[in-house]
Amino acid sequence: MMADHDISTLIEVSRRYGADARMVLLGGGNTSWKTDSVMYVKASGHALGTIGRDGFVAMSMDRLQAIWDKQYPTVPEQREKQILEDMMESRCAGESGRPSVEALLHALIPFDYVVHLHPAIVNGLTCGQSGEESMHRLFPDAIWIPLVNPGYILAKKVKDVMAAYLESHDAPPAMIFLQNHGVFVGSDTIEGIDASYDQIMETLAKSLVRKPIFGEVKVDAKRVALVQQAMRSHFKASTDFPIVANREVMNRLADASSFASVSSAYTPDHIVYSGFKPLWVSEEVFGAADPVAAIIASLHQFEQDYQVPAKVVAIQDTAVFATSEAALLLFLDTVKVAVFTESFGGPRFMDDDQIEFIRGWEVERYRSKMSG
Ligand SMILES: [Zn+2]
Repeated sequence: MMADHDISTLIEVSRRYGADARMVLLGGGNTSWKTDSVMYVKASGHALGTIGRDGFVAMSMDRLQAIWDKQYPTVPEQREKQILEDMMESRCAGESGRPSVEALLHALIPFDYVVHLHPAIVNGLTCGQSGEESMHRLFPDAIWIPLVNPGYILAKKVKDVMAAYLESHDAPPAMIFLQNHGVFVGSDTIEGIDASYDQIMETLAKSLVRKPIFGEVKVDAKRVALVQQAMRSHFKASTDFPIVANREVMNRLADASSFASVSSAYTPDHIVYSGFKPLWVSEEVFGAADPVAAIIASLHQFEQDYQVPAKVVAIQDTAVFATSEAALLLFLDTVKVAVFTESFGGPRFMDDDQIEFIRGWEVERYRSKMSG
């Protein structure tokens, strides 16, 4: 089956949400539209803000549905490999894009349009200790999905929770909140999608006990220069690395315990872009005989311990350094999420085994990059 619908409305809504920095960072989030047994869903590797027709993959709803009748291996790597093969097989003729891992979940949501995003304020709720209770209070018709492995297991969980919901409700939920991940919003119209997102953003904004304080503060230029020198040497770079030193960040750089609420990963996107955790470096390095060598030793030790380089380096009472603008942007998102969780019972990171599941892919990619 060749799919050739006019998807300009899907492209328009995707670009509009993708261009809003409160809603989407980098390649985060995805969208879909279902019509005539075909689902158009965002392909991997595209950003919503600039997406066009080639950023979407047309998939057969019947073939996606058939995935639920199959038995898959219980070993995660084998299972996810077969699921990916079946997802690729579910594409309509002529499609070359790789569907997002969340395509299976989009197919399950019985609305024409689905817009899935990870806004920081939403993740303040989904990563809050009392996030689930808060959600039931603020959005009584929404459903909550606890933290499970992404991909097939997550889609299966949503399928089960949705089935249970429909036993006591006349209509499917328009909002699905995923613990430590984000939100899926579904509607048969774009107006319905916009109304739900307006409601989510306004309701959460009204529930905040405080907002992040991002005013810049003066940095210790001598210390910063030493860290830049160490990082340039360690990462074999010729230019300086991006840094941040705003009030919210500096408050957290006072000591390791102040740093706790930004010391691990809140969501899969944070792991992908800014690493599963930042490297914490005590300011004692500046008292060492050779501060640059001491910082390099810390960077090296991190790689020894975790088999991947640090993407974010937090230097006590100095600044936070990142190996890319993307890593810095997602670290700042971590800081926002941390602040927003204060309104929903305090921070709750992803569980260690969930982090390891995603980190496994990352370690694998890094190994293949290094050997290739
Ligand atoms: Zn997502």
